[in-house]
Amino acid sequence: MEKTKGKIKYLGELLRNKEISCQELTTKYLESINQDNGKLNAYVSVTEQEALDTAKAVDKKIASGEELSPLEGIPMTLKDNISTKDIETTCCSKILQGYVPIYNATVWDLLKSQNAVLLGKTNMDEFAMGSSCETSCFGGANNPHNLAHVAGGSSGGVASAVGGNIAAYGLGSDTGGSIRQPASFCGLVGLKPTYGAVSRYGLIAYASSLDQIGPITSTVEDAALVFDAISKKDPMDSTSQGGAEPTLAKLNQDIKGLKIGVAKEYFEGVRDDVKKALEQSIKTYVSLGAQIVYFDLPVLKYALPVYYILACAEASSNLGRYDSIRYGYRTDENYHSIHEMICKTRSEGFGKEVQRRILLGTYVLSSGYYDAYYKKAQRLRGAVVKAFQNAFQSCDVILTPTVPMTAFEQGFSSKDQIETYQTDICTVPINIAGLPAISIPCGFDSKGLPIGMQLIGNTFCESTILNAAYQFENACANQIYKNVDLGVKL
Ligand code: GLN
Repeated sequence: MEKTKGKIKYLGELLRNKEISCQELTTKYLESINQDNGKLNAYVSVTEQEALDTAKAVDKKIASGEELSPLEGIPMTLKDNISTKDIETTCCSKILQGYVPIYNATVWDLLKSQNAVLLGKTNMDEFAMGSSCETSCFGGANNPHNLAHVAGGSSGGVASAVGGNIAAYGLGSDTGGSIRQPASFCGLVGLKPTYGAVSRYGLIAYASSLDQIGPITSTVEDAALVFDAISKKDPMDSTSQGGAEPTLAKLNQDIKGLKIGVAKEYFEGVRDDVKKALEQSIKTYVSLGAQIVYFDLPVLKYALPVYYILACAEASSNLGRYDSIRYGYRTDENYHSIHEMICKTRSEGFGKEVQRRILLGTYVLSSGYYDAYYKKAQRLRGAVVKAFQNAFQSCDVILTPTVPMTAFEQGFSSKDQIETYQTDICTVPINIAGLPAISIPCGFDSKGLPIGMQLIGNTFCESTILNAAYQFENACANQIYKNVDLGVKL
């Protein structure tokens, strides 16, 4: 079997050729979930009936000879911060347990209209705050390559499900790396689109000026397919602009002469084996005819503090809505005023990391400290945006590690929170600048854990980074993609 053939196309062909019915395919996935979710902890809810009903409708279409759209009948998952009408959506927080949205996120409407088969909702760090999935109130998702390691975060459940072959693909959200980092940790492809390329309507907000929804998939072709399906201008999100152009048709373009930027700052503090894999990847690109352009990115050192100030500030405002009055968790009857009820509810409903960020965010926005922290961070955000704009004057794509290391062992984040924040260094600048970036596998460490490479593009240049990633994937098919399991075992 061809190594880098997309998993989605492969499954679609099985359906179209009637080698398997959609109900059989869906049942196979549901059985695999039954068997493997206990050890992966990828799903926090399984939507069996929804999946089987959709599969039945797809089988009807196949039987009547109707054309299937690209994602039709393909079993998939959604991170549990993407609103699904009539299906519980918790953000993996106690405060939202039992919350059933009365509307769909636009991305889910778009996929549902193609008869995507939703298998269930997947695990995540509480309100997407974290890098290991361990802040989830359901406990973290595990890495399919080694269960003693985390799947990453915050979209750890999606990555664990796709990597563990209990979903064909999934949608995650990325505020500072939450699609790319778990994709990197689980040997998958993760695309964080340009800010505005995908509608955020129905995505439960963490930090609205940084959040974007995107795919986590097994191959680059799958990522292009899913991105094309969800990148549409949406009147329900005033920041949505839609995608620049369909990307799938643009894969397989020659990259001779493509200018790939490399900044030394991006390699400081990166573990040796990760650095080595990246150096090897640069050589692969040179052998494909790309030109390497070295440049300086001194603003990189500001990215982490800017991110954590702005993200927490926005979170403190966004999470102000959880007052337990209209929906969500409420403390027991033991209170004497509405103020006390809200205080108790929020203290009991939010986990420690979320509380820490609300407190930090409220502090940097408070009148005495606004200028010193929030305003300064906003100004520095401008400097980061400008630095990338300058870089793209001399290159088409920027190549960096996705994470300075491979998947943490379980418990790493709770031992050293500051060190965990520091591992976000390669991914957060991209959200600050609103750029698109993709993480693709580029090797393994000595324990067999995947290493990820990040390719950053200019705004709305998704097709450039997807094509560059596709060329790399083809060039490395036998070494790095040997673990890609294309289909269900028939
Ligand atoms: N790890 C980062 C954080 O904890 C990014 C999370 C995300 O992208 N949602 O904020």
